Amino acid sequence: MTKVQSKTKVIATLGPASSSREVLEEMIMAGVDVCRINFSHGDPSAHTETIKTIRAINKERGLNTAILADLQGPKLRIGEVENNGVELIAGEDILITTKACVGTSKQVYITYPQFPQDVKIGETVLIDDGKIVLAVKDTNKDNEVVATVVHGGILSSKKGVNLPNTHISLPSLTKKDLQDLRFALENDVEWIGLSFVRKATDILELKHIIQKNNKNARVVAKIEKPEAVKDIDNIVKCADALMVARGDLGVEIPMENVPLIQKMLVQKALEAHIPVIIATQMMESMIHNYNATRAEVNDVANSVMDGADAVMLSGETSVGSFPVRVIQTVQKILAQVEGFEGIYHKRHQSSAPQKNRMISDAICFNSVNVAEQTGAAAIVAMTHSGYTAFYISSFRPKSGIYIFTGNQALLNTLSLVWGVKGFFYDKMVSTDHTINEIKDILKHEGLVKTDDLIINVASIPMHEFGKTNMMKLSFVE
Ligand code: PEP
Repeated sequence: MTKVQSKTKVIATLGPASSSREVLEEMIMAGVDVCRINFSHGDPSAHTETIKTIRAINKERGLNTAILADLQGPKLRIGEVENNGVELIAGEDILITTKACVGTSKQVYITYPQFPQDVKIGETVLIDDGKIVLAVKDTNKDNEVVATVVHGGILSSKKGVNLPNTHISLPSLTKKDLQDLRFALENDVEWIGLSFVRKATDILELKHIIQKNNKNARVVAKIEKPEAVKDIDNIVKCADALMVARGDLGVEIPMENVPLIQKMLVQKALEAHIPVIIATQMMESMIHNYNATRAEVNDVANSVMDGADAVMLSGETSVGSFPVRVIQTVQKILAQVEGFEGIYHKRHQSSAPQKNRMISDAICFNSVNVAEQTGAAAIVAMTHSGYTAFYISSFRPKSGIYIFTGNQALLNTLSLVWGVKGFFYDKMVSTDHTINEIKDILKHEGLVKTDDLIINVASIPMHEFGKTNMMKLSFVE
């Protein structure tokens, strides 16, 4: 059995529905490229087991499934509530306190010590994905805030809180995040997601810790705050990938604004040559239902047409009843949409030349143009850092993108990147020998055939691991 592989990559959030070896293996073979471990749920021993299982499947099947460790970030929550649910009635007041207590319909605890100092009268408090709406009436600027219920409902324990208008002074990495980050780095995960990013420096701070620990994990900036949307031009300069985290984004900003923001974020990521993930509620109804809705099928298809590198499943694969069928359904949609030529290959604009990358950027950009002009079957790149793979992929070429690297860890990292298929290769005999051997490997894998044109890009001399400076066209014999 060979793994199902689309150009658009598929991320599955793991949880009780998908942590067994059997289900996980079936999901991966059905087309999962990246497994997401959500640190908002589960405990370290469960995460350790999951990581071990993924690595074991990779080894036994010769796969490169990546792991995305998703840090919770400064997520706000209310505390426990009596009877695990109380009713809030529109027009009544409720006291929000920073002193731990069991909540009632009159008083509730919030996990945000600076709330009374940060909030302003009139600002909105949204609880449980905006199902309950409060308006701030008063604050003692110390430990208590009074709010009026605008839209009521049942308030249950530990629900999330969003403050769309409040300038939140919490650090971007909480104590829990720092612990989870240590765990993720010790386990050499390839990607780390940061939730509730507000500004580019949040990413830089996380990257600084990763570097200090001599690790190579790449960072996904989860865009779910209006502040992040505002600072997006700086965020794309330092993040390694973006996630359109539509769940919280659609609470923090009016949800009707999300579709256009999704398109804008995809465009920014493509221009910055970094991957972009579209996340949340893609196949939501399949948490319980055997089939997706027509709207969900359209959403996955439209995300591909927008230009997503990857689509992400959350509850569908972590707690849903049909984790394998969801992946099969997504793959069917991807196969159908990707088979339609017109959706890609429309943006071949080079970005402004950067002094230190000008040569490699020009080679990568023009390898895509030459591939289009000549109908080449494949662009083949040798890379150690992966830069070339990210860059070429961002132009969405029609030809295959095959990346050869001696950097084993990079192969997993590249599983998130659109259209890229990686191969381990660490021989350094000569450029000609390497190019011929790579052609044989691709032919043997059934990815190219006799008389196909191949474009090789690499850095010569190869042993110097320099930046890409060479492009060669040749036919497969
Ligand atoms: C989201 O809010 O869309 C998201 C992906 O974040 P999380 O699943 O961590 O809430």
